[in-house]
Amino acid sequence: MNHPVQAAKFLEDKPNAKWHDETLWFVRDKRDLSSKSIPEWEKLRELASDIKDNVLSNLDTYLVEFEKNATKNGIKIHWAKDAEEHNQIVLSILKEKDCKAIVKSKSILTEECHLNPYLEENGVEVVDTDLGERIVQFLNQPPSHIVLPAIHLKKEHISEIFHEKLQTEKGNNDPYYLTQAARKHLREKFLAAKVAITGVNFGVAETGEFVVCTNEGNADMGVHLADTHIACMGIEKLIPKREHLGVFLRLLARSATGQSITNYNSHFRSPSNGKEIHIVLLDNGRTKQLAREKFRNSLKCIRCGACMNTCPIYRRSGGYSYGSVVPGPIGSILSPGIDLKKHSSLPFASTLCGSCSDVCPVKINIHEQLYEWRQEITKAQSSLNAKSIAMKIANGIFSTPFAYKISGKIMRGSLKILPESITYSNLNTWGKERDLPELPKQSFKDWYKNKGNE
Ligand code: SF4
Repeated sequence: MNHPVQAAKFLEDKPNAKWHDETLWFVRDKRDLSSKSIPEWEKLRELASDIKDNVLSNLDTYLVEFEKNATKNGIKIHWAKDAEEHNQIVLSILKEKDCKAIVKSKSILTEECHLNPYLEENGVEVVDTDLGERIVQFLNQPPSHIVLPAIHLKKEHISEIFHEKLQTEKGNNDPYYLTQAARKHLREKFLAAKVAITGVNFGVAETGEFVVCTNEGNADMGVHLADTHIACMGIEKLIPKREHLGVFLRLLARSATGQSITNYNSHFRSPSNGKEIHIVLLDNGRTKQLAREKFRNSLKCIRCGACMNTCPIYRRSGGYSYGSVVPGPIGSILSPGIDLKKHSSLPFASTLCGSCSDVCPVKINIHEQLYEWRQEITKAQSSLNAKSIAMKIANGIFSTPFAYKISGKIMRGSLKILPESITYSNLNTWGKERDLPELPKQSFKDWYKNKGNE
C-alpha cells in the first residue's frame, strides 16, 4: 500500500477530487460554527483529554471494574486478544443461537476485524443498517470515512446502485425517495434478524453500561427487535463515571457533523427478560500502542472524524488512498502501530500543518505523533533506500567545502545541457509538480569575491 500512488489515482478525476475536498470542508465549517457556539469549548476539550489520560493510566483497573459491574447487570463479557479471536467469539454466539442472518449498526471495530467477510464465509448474511454503510456494502467496499462512510459517492451514483440492488426508478436521484427505498428494504432485514451487532462509543466503568450513538436509530431498531445483542468494543472505549458522559457527548457530535447532539445516544445496561447482551472486549494491538510512550495518547480518540474533514491531504486524496480501516491523520498514527511495513507511507501523508491537532476534541497531538512516526520509520527502514543514500551523499557534500564547491560547479554546468528526460526523470519526484529554479551563473562565494574586487 502506497499512499502517494493511491492519491494520484484519486486525483486523476479532477472534478470529483474538487467536489470531495469541498464537501469535507463544508462539514469542517459546520464543526467550527457549532464549537464556537459554546464558550467553554476549550475547557471541555481539556477535560475530555484529562479524563482519557486518567483512563489510559488506569486501564487495567477500569476494565476489571467494567467487567464486574456489567456481569452484575446480567451482561456476558468476552475478551478477545486479536481480530481472529473476536470473530470466533461472535461466530460461536451466532452458532449457539442458530442464527444465519444478522443486522449490524456502524462499527469501525468490526471493520478493523473484517467481521463481515468472516461471517459471510461461515454462512451468515450480514446486513449493515447504517444507510452510508449499506451503500458501500452494496458496492463491496469498506467505508471511506469513519463517520460518513459513503461521503465519496454522489447522489447520482447512489441512485444507480439502488436501481440495480433495490429496483428503484432509474435516474431518480431524490434523496428522500432513495432513503425511503432503503428504509423499506432494511425494515425487512430488521424484522428477520435474531441477533443484532453494534459497536460501542463509551463504556462506563462505574455502572457497567455502555452507550451507542447513531443518527438514524438503526442500532436501537436492530437491538430491540432481536433476541441477542452483541456489542463489539475496543478496550480503550471506557470512561470512569456516567457523569463524564456529558463532556464527551457534547464534543462528539459537534466535532463530527456540527450537530449539537447525536440523534440517538442509547444506553444499554442490562438485557430485558428473555434476551441476552454480550460484550466482546477487543485488544488487537491496543495494549501495544499503550506501551508506546510517544503514541499512547492516540488511544484517546473518540472517532469523531474531525481530523479527516480538516486535513488537506485527506480531503484531496480520499479515504481509500490510506488503505486502512481508519484513514486520515489519526489512522496514519494507528495503522503503522499494527503493521509498520504495510502502512509506512501514511505518516508522510501530512503537511504537518497541525490543523488535525487543533480540531481534535480530546486534544491528541496528532501532527507531532505523525512526525515521531516518520523518524521511527526512517530508522527502521534499510539504510539502502534512495532517500537515505541521497541524504548521505548530501551530508558528505555539505560538510566538505571542497566537495561543495566542485559539485556546485558541476551541477551549474550539467543542468544546463542535460535533457529534460533526465532532469525530470522518475528519480526526481520533487520535479514532477515543480520546475527546477533558474541556475545562477556563479556561486555566492564567487559573486562575493568579485564584488570585493570591484
Ligand atoms: S483523532 Fe481526534 S479528531 Fe481525529 S477522529 Fe479521533 S477524536 Fe476525532
